[in-house]
Amino acid sequence: MTARALDEEELARLADGVRDGRRADVSRAITLVESTKPAHRAAARDLLSRLTAGDAVRVGISGVPGVGKSTFIEQLGTRLTAAGHRVGVLTVDPSSVRTGGSVLGDKTRMARLATDPQAYIRPSPAAGTLGGVARATTQAMAVLEAAGHDVVLVETVGVGQSEITVAGMVDTFLFLTLARTGDQLQGIKKGILEIADVIAVNKADQEHEGEARVAARELAGALRLVHGKGEWAPSVVTCSGLTGEGVDEVWQRVLDHRGHLGEEGLAAKRAGQQLDFTWSLVRDELADRLRRSPGVAAIRDDVRRRVLEGEINAPVAADLILEAYDRD
Ligand code: GDP
Repeated sequence: MTARALDEEELARLADGVRDGRRADVSRAITLVESTKPAHRAAARDLLSRLTAGDAVRVGISGVPGVGKSTFIEQLGTRLTAAGHRVGVLTVDPSSVRTGGSVLGDKTRMARLATDPQAYIRPSPAAGTLGGVARATTQAMAVLEAAGHDVVLVETVGVGQSEITVAGMVDTFLFLTLARTGDQLQGIKKGILEIADVIAVNKADQEHEGEARVAARELAGALRLVHGKGEWAPSVVTCSGLTGEGVDEVWQRVLDHRGHLGEEGLAAKRAGQQLDFTWSLVRDELADRLRRSPGVAAIRDDVRRRVLEGEINAPVAADLILEAYDRD
């Protein structure tokens, strides 16, 4: 896409194409909302304001590399499209932020779903901060919903902050794990157990089936300690993305979680997410303005030198930078 802003007519045509669910237009629209160029960002806002908000079932799916996410999503996705759903798959990949390369969302990882006309798979934007990727993903989700996708799966790799970020943009968070028992349970970060709404012990096939069931039982016990009475206690089920065994049950648990939220609960959750998203957009934009500030640029090297030489301390240096920014 060129750096030139789209004109009125092009935007209107793009919005029509998205509404009609035309793949090429959906791809162009997502490229637009992923762009960090100021002119594109304005065009993206304009585009989104022309699209009606959709109402998809939004599910985050996470787990460590190798847990079987892509195999599972392929299995679940093809079942959902066979049942008449239109499925969008997005990814939030922290490795792409660091390296510019992506380990998730590679289309070859989901060969069948990638060629399914009722599905749309989009790899993670390859650059930017996690906040920037989150902004792009949230808007890509809006594009997919406007294009008629009624299920959006957001995949992320099971490390750190990306899971919290994804949990903040979906209705239900599904955590895939492998059979671990006893002490190995400690290996699952407590933070994950707090944000997971449904947990599936994957690869419960072949010789691992019994082991997976024991692990699921222990995990369910551990979760009862984390969650208070009356709260949604995440269901723990076993499944195999490879054979498909238990995958429908996992989906049923996702729907049960939505049922538990209820219409009002879901609306309140999404409203809260919008508010959080608002502030994260503001923080992102401020960080951008700080980077672009001529006043800051003018003193940056001097401040850096004075801090490194021990002439001024960090709070004094920070004040100098903020004063320069405010004077712009
Ligand atoms: P991801 O990195 O989480 O996306 O994991 P993949 O879906 O790429 O799977 C990693 C490896 O585990 C591959 O070799 C898969 O064939 C295998 N695998 C995935 N799901 C299952 C499963 O349900 N059972 C078994 N036995 N192997 C699986």
